[in-house]
Amino acid sequence: MDTTEYKTCLTVFTLFGVLLICWCAPQRFCEPGGDNSGRCNNGPDEEKPAVCSEINLGYCNDLDYSRTIFPNILGQQSRHEVESGPEYLLLSVIHGLLNGECSPDIRLLGCSVLAPRCQELPSPAPVKSCRSACEAVRKGCGHAFEGIDMAWPYFLDCDRFFAGEQEGCHDPLAPLRARQEVVFSNLSPDEPSTIIQFTYHSNAQMYSVLKRTAAKCSHISRTYSIGRSTEGKDLLAIEFTDNPGGHELLEPEIKLVGNMHGNEVLGRQLLLYLAQYLCSEYLLGNQRIQTLVNTTRIHILASMNPDGYELAAAEGHELNGWTVGRTNAQNLDLNRNFPDLTSILYRNRRIKRFRTDHIPIPDSYWFGKIASETYAVMKWIRSVPFVQSASLHGGELVISYPFDFSRHLHEERMFSPTPDEQAFKQLARTYADSHASMADNNTERCGASFIRSGGIINGALWYSFPGGMSDFNYLHTNCLEITVELGCDKFPSEEELYPEWLRNKEALLSFMESVHRGIKGVVKDEEGYGIKGASVSVRGIRKDVTTAEEGDYWRLMNSGTHIISASAKGYSKVSKRIYLPAHMEKAWRVNFVLKKVPVQPVGPDYHLFLRSSLDTYDRFDPYNHFQSYGRSEPGEPREPREPREPGMGGEPGMGGEWQEKEKPWWWNYFTQAGVSAPTWLLRN
Ligand SMILES: [Zn+2]
Repeated sequence: MDTTEYKTCLTVFTLFGVLLICWCAPQRFCEPGGDNSGRCNNGPDEEKPAVCSEINLGYCNDLDYSRTIFPNILGQQSRHEVESGPEYLLLSVIHGLLNGECSPDIRLLGCSVLAPRCQELPSPAPVKSCRSACEAVRKGCGHAFEGIDMAWPYFLDCDRFFAGEQEGCHDPLAPLRARQEVVFSNLSPDEPSTIIQFTYHSNAQMYSVLKRTAAKCSHISRTYSIGRSTEGKDLLAIEFTDNPGGHELLEPEIKLVGNMHGNEVLGRQLLLYLAQYLCSEYLLGNQRIQTLVNTTRIHILASMNPDGYELAAAEGHELNGWTVGRTNAQNLDLNRNFPDLTSILYRNRRIKRFRTDHIPIPDSYWFGKIASETYAVMKWIRSVPFVQSASLHGGELVISYPFDFSRHLHEERMFSPTPDEQAFKQLARTYADSHASMADNNTERCGASFIRSGGIINGALWYSFPGGMSDFNYLHTNCLEITVELGCDKFPSEEELYPEWLRNKEALLSFMESVHRGIKGVVKDEEGYGIKGASVSVRGIRKDVTTAEEGDYWRLMNSGTHIISASAKGYSKVSKRIYLPAHMEKAWRVNFVLKKVPVQPVGPDYHLFLRSSLDTYDRFDPYNHFQSYGRSEPGEPREPREPREPGMGGEPGMGGEWQEKEKPWWWNYFTQAGVSAPTWLLRN
């Protein structure tokens, strides 16, 4: 109580004597330092001496003592009051909420506050638990709470409700630690060191795994949203790099995209396992993973189509046939929904100066139906300088690479290579050869035969389709994307998930490492400033890459002698001859310094190779809100929204929905149980 309150109390005391006792006496039950939950006011003014009693709380029956005492450390008066409180409810669901992490540690720690050990002599009294135990749990489990957007529970405040060793505290976790030591001493060194649950994850569980992983590895990871699905679900990506949150000069960026077809679910699971694997192995000191993460910026979008997944998962693995959940909620096949730049290329390819790169999106595209998932991914692809990418599908066991759309309108199966055929082939080989059975001759295929090509194929030679994501990546940006068909079964049984991870783990790692093949460098002006948007070309390959923000570029290339040139508007062109050896540990550095020259007048066909600066995307982007995916302030909300009161305006039908989203997914566990709302679990 502050001084004003104290004065009020005194005044009341002088006027009404006895009444004061009823108002102020319950303060005796309060902990020093006060309790901001208001809990201190409900204790009756009893004179009955406290006694030790049996614990009798179902979720606390494995404490290493059997007798407790009321009021407990929080001032709760009876077993009934404990059982009907949100603190006990939290302990009963915490295992599920944290997906088994920090369990049973958190529960036992909480139980030791709600039902403290009762010490009989000299007179019955509660024994507080040890602050050191609380602090150890908080250190190890804080990230798990952050991962599900939950604040650290007030009653596990190590300073307020725990005591030091010299005060004779009790360590509620001592028996648990003893048990764990036995388990660890029995583990063979071959046991997997990373603990991953090889099960299917609902959308909510997926978000939770991603956020918890990023929180656990916050020095090398973070999650961010690239947009929303048609039904408003988050398209949540996770990145791994030594300095998360922004592009670093000369550090290549890659992406892995799963579940574009909602019913092709294996890739989504593999990417969730991969994220957890990268985090754990990095923390465990795995040299290979540390090198990969420290030298690469890896973006993982485990599900591009969470709406479709929900439909497919509702049917389940047994029933899910070939198509339910494939499309998004608007029934659009996302891998047919990207701008068809391949046709534009084919129409113009005989024009001498027409190049195969950075083709603008035609106006006509914007008048068609564009899925919000497609839109979000296009925005993402345009705002990060991706070098290579893999899109994970199912239904076959093969890697296909662009072009996916046939060179001839009426040829459904026709070899249609890009100018980067050699680089694409090598990229596809990298995955297929490191996969347990993809390149295998006697592996039973799902219908088609890829034996002669060793498990890789040009997309259009397999079957032709327009509007695919890989063709768009190649023709609109610098990024080379392959399509990974992970197996015949689009929705394998849960028992298959772990074996599938083993079959694909090395392939995924090798694929990510392969981005360090070829050349990279910086294009600068004479004053040493990087030139953004400069073109880097390779003689004989009709596709340029352009430089990123600070003038850096990457180009996947195979071994041999190459002539590389750099040019930019207003600068002279510079060429270099290089030799790339067959086995490269890391990308070859080729830097350029360009001299300023007077701007040349443009020729009549200049419009054919306009760069993306004049792209229609900017004109048609209905919200004109490019996100830079750059560094954001720690803790800064990405999409700040005004909280709305119930029935206080907002769009009809939207207000309630948004409001639901304001609260974390686990909020309903508490509000539906009829306990007083634990607002202390909400962060900020
Ligand atoms: Zn697919």
